[in-house]
Amino acid sequence: MRILNGLVIALATILLSIPAFAQSENGYSNANGNAKFLRCGTRQPTELEALMVEEHILKMLGKFKSNQKKPDKPGKPGGGGGGGDTPSPNGSVSIDVYFHVITDTAGNGHLTAGDINAQMAVLNAAYSGGSGGVDTPFRFNLVSTDYTANNSWYNVGYGTAAEASMKSALRQGDAGDLNFYTANLGGGLLGWATFPTDYASNPANDGVVVLYSSLPGGSAAPYNEGDTGTHEVGHWLGLYHTFQGGCKDGDFVDDTPAERSPAYGCPVGRDSCSTRRQPGLDPIYNFMDYTDDNCMFEFTADQALRADILTQTYR
Ligand SMILES: [Zn+2]
Repeated sequence: MRILNGLVIALATILLSIPAFAQSENGYSNANGNAKFLRCGTRQPTELEALMVEEHILKMLGKFKSNQKKPDKPGKPGGGGGGGDTPSPNGSVSIDVYFHVITDTAGNGHLTAGDINAQMAVLNAAYSGGSGGVDTPFRFNLVSTDYTANNSWYNVGYGTAAEASMKSALRQGDAGDLNFYTANLGGGLLGWATFPTDYASNPANDGVVVLYSSLPGGSAAPYNEGDTGTHEVGHWLGLYHTFQGGCKDGDFVDDTPAERSPAYGCPVGRDSCSTRRQPGLDPIYNFMDYTDDNCMFEFTADQALRADILTQTYR
């Protein structure tokens, strides 16, 4: 089984390193053209990529289940090193965070230590269930903050030369460490992230990039309570948008009801996939939708499990 999992990972890594797969459609096509901000520029995985990741997750879930049936032979604890045999306990995975603040040469985009600590508190509340969702294995530990004045990096766009040069100059740590960049993003984006499966083919690109004014108390209302950071870190841990794949394929998470398209604002009662086969109201309160920060407050148990599996395997 371990060898088979290794083969799947190797195959996925090869496929993801092929440009046609690596440069699949990003989130622009899901953006609301009338909105003041484009919600998220994280690329949309191809169908093949999503299915391969799902195949790996199903194998890991089977492994978890068979270990639960053998209480006398406990599995190896989870937490890195290519995949454990059991789910990680809540709060057991501490992720070191390297914070990189980009300003222009006039000082626009500056964040104080208080701003950054407030963002860290939002992340830890979101992933511990403190804002209303489930507890998860993940906690976040700020280890350093650096400041760079660079007019080109300040207006960094998704997939640009500025992004590559910014990240190659500033990125720290390894696959399990979170590099959190803030700037005044080009294209009106609130943020974007890389997936765990992206790491092997391009380690230097790994991390999340977030609009500086989306941090708690910033000027990017209604997206200024720090949930852009929470959302992008969700992608970084392997989560998809709740509306990915629409009513048919969904987000490969069983306990987030299917959703046809992104939800904006806070449309209570929205039910965009209303056939009998797709029960449940849209997951508008979920961090992986596009609703306003004051609307979203939760991750689900299956999202936590998916993020745990992908982090154990790829980070
Ligand atoms: Zn997103």
